[in-house]
Amino acid sequence: MAFLNNLFKKKPKKKAAQCSICKSRLEYEEGFALTTSQVVISKQYWDHKMVEPDTMSYTTSHFKNKDENATNMRKIIFEKTAEKDHTWMTCDTCIKHFSVDHNETRQLANEWWVSENGFKLPGSGKAEEVLKSEEYESIKQYATMKAGESLIRI
Ligand SMILES: [Zn+2]
Repeated sequence: MAFLNNLFKKKPKKKAAQCSICKSRLEYEEGFALTTSQVVISKQYWDHKMVEPDTMSYTTSHFKNKDENATNMRKIIFEKTAEKDHTWMTCDTCIKHFSVDHNETRQLANEWWVSENGFKLPGSGKAEEVLKSEEYESIKQYATMKAGESLIRI
C-alpha cells in the first residue's frame, strides 16, 4: 500500500512565505490562514495598523489636529484593506490580534501550503460582501475614527 499512500500524499506546492501582517518569514507548514473579513473585523488589528510608520502621521494629525485629510486617509486605508481578496497568512505573534480558532486556522494554513495558487478559504472575498452591513460599517467607523487612539500621545 506504500505506493498508494505516496500517490495520494499531498506534496508541498509552496516552500516559504511571508506573514501578511508583519512580513516575517514563514517556513513550510507554519502560520495561520485568515480571510480578509477575519482580519478586517479585528479592532486590535486596526489599533496596530494605524500606528505603523507609514500610517502614524495620519493618525497623529487625525487625533491632534482633527485634520480631515488625515481622517480621510485612514478611511481609504481601511477600504483598500477590506477590498483585498486573498488569503492572509499570519505568524504566531500576529495571530494574537485576531479572535479566531487557532486549530481551524492552522488546519487551513496546512491546506494553503499544499495548494496551488488561487486556493480560497471558506468566507474569503471582499469584507463588504462577506460581513453583515452593520458589522462592516461599525468596524469601518472604528478604524477611521478610533483606531490607535490609546497608543498615541496627544
Ligand atoms: Zn506576523
